[in-house]
Amino acid sequence: MHDVIVIGGGPAGASAAVTAARAGLRTALVDKARFPRDKLCGGGFTGRSLSYFQQIFDAPRPDAPMLCRNEMAFYAFGQHLGTYQDCPPLYLAMRRSLDAELCARAIAAGAEDFTGRAMQSLTPDGAVTLVDGTLLKAPVVIGADGVNSPTARSLFGTAFNRHEIGFALEVECDTSPDTLPVRIDFGAADWGYGWAFPKQHGVTVGVGGLLRRNPDLKSLLERYLVATGLESHSTVKGQFLPFGHARKQPGKGRVLLAGDAAGLVDPITGEGIAYAMKSGQMAALAGIQSLAKGTPETALTQYRQDLRAITKAIGQARFLRQLMFRPIFRRVFINSFVRSTHLRHEYLRLLAGETEYSGLSRSISRRLPRYFWRTIANTR
Ligand SMILES: Cc1cc2nc3c(=O)[nH]c(=O)nc-3n(C[C@H](O)[C@H](O)[C@H](O)COP(=O)(O)OP(=O)(O)OC[C@H]3O[C@@H](n4cnc5c(N)ncnc54)[C@H](O)[C@@H]3O)c2cc1C
Repeated sequence: MHDVIVIGGGPAGASAAVTAARAGLRTALVDKARFPRDKLCGGGFTGRSLSYFQQIFDAPRPDAPMLCRNEMAFYAFGQHLGTYQDCPPLYLAMRRSLDAELCARAIAAGAEDFTGRAMQSLTPDGAVTLVDGTLLKAPVVIGADGVNSPTARSLFGTAFNRHEIGFALEVECDTSPDTLPVRIDFGAADWGYGWAFPKQHGVTVGVGGLLRRNPDLKSLLERYLVATGLESHSTVKGQFLPFGHARKQPGKGRVLLAGDAAGLVDPITGEGIAYAMKSGQMAALAGIQSLAKGTPETALTQYRQDLRAITKAIGQARFLRQLMFRPIFRRVFINSFVRSTHLRHEYLRLLAGETEYSGLSRSISRRLPRYFWRTIANTR
C-alpha cells in the first residue's frame, strides 16, 4: 500500500513524485521505460521551465547538459524576417538526459522505483496493475503518462480528441551547433511552425501544427529541411502534441491527470515541459492536502481549482492563436512582427517563458487596428 502512485516518470511524473516523496508520502513511481530513455522533443527549456524546476526540485538548474542561446532567427515562407541578439535566454536540452535526471531526483527524494514496468490497468479507486502482475494500491493516483496516456484511456476511453490534437515531426542533424541561432519559421506548417534548435551535439529540426490542418506533414518537413540548408541521415520521428486542448476533466475519482495526459501544452509555442512540471507538482500538493484531511476523494476538486491558472493561460493562448495562425490574420501578424519592436519583444519574452498571455493579449488587442491598417497600406 502506498499513499500516492505516479504513473509516468517524465517531467510531470517526476515533479509529482518528488513533491509527494519530500512531503513524506509513500510514493510509487511507475514508468514503462527504464531511464535514460528517448523522448521526441525540441528540448526547448524556457525561463518558465527553469523557474518551475527551481521551485520543485530545489536546485539552481538541471545538471543535464544544456546549451543557452540568446540569438534567434525568424523566417516566414522562405523569407528571412530578422535575426535578433540579446533575446531572453532559451536553454536547449536533450530529453534523454534531462528526464533521466528528473526521475533520478524523484527516486533520491524517496519515491519507490517501479521504472521499467508498464502500467497495464487501473481502477478509478486507485488499484494499479503492472505488466509483471504486481498490484499497487493507493488512495490517490497521478496519471502522468504522456499524450497517449493509458491512464486517460482507461478513465475516458480515449487519450485525446483527434480534431483538436497537434502532430509534430522531428529529425536530428549532425551539423555543428557552434554558432547557429535558434531558428523559428512561421508558416512551415499550418497552425503551427518549424524550428531548428541547436543542441550540444547537433541540431534538432522539426515541424508541427494542428493535425487536421497538416495532412502531409512529412512533405512539409522535407521542404523545411531544404529551406534550412541542413542535412539529416536520421529517421524521421513523429508524435502527437496536445496543442491547446486542455482536458475539461483532469481526472476522475481518485485519479488525477498531469502534463500531456491532461492536454497541458501551449497552443502557440508547443511548450509542454513547464506546464508538465507545474501540473505534476499541483497534483501532488492536492493529494498531500486531501490525505492530510483524511479525504482523498477531494484531491481532484482541489487539483482542478489549482490548475485554473494554467488552463486560463491556455484559453488565452487559444484566442491569440486565431490572430497569429488564421490565414486572414497571419500576414498582419508577420508584418507586425517585423515592424513592431514592441510586439517582437513581447513574443520573444513569451517564447522564453518570461511573460504570460494576459499581458500579450491586452497589448495586441490595443494595437490590432494599427497593425491592420499598416498591413493594408503596405499591400496596396
Ligand atoms: C516534436 C515535439 C517537440 C516538442 N518540443 C518541445 C520543446 O522544445 N519544449 C517544450 O517545453 N515542450 C516541447 N514539446 C512538448 C513536451 O515534449 C511535452 O509537453 C512533455 O514531454 C510532457 O511531459 P509529460 O511528463 O506530461 O509526458 P512525457 O514526457 O511524455 O512522459 C510520459 C512518461 O509516461 C511513460 N508511460 C507511457 N505509458 C506508460 C505506461 N503504460 N505505464 C507506465 N509509464 C508509461 C512514458 O514512458 C514516459 O516516460 C514537444 C513535443 C513534441 C512531440
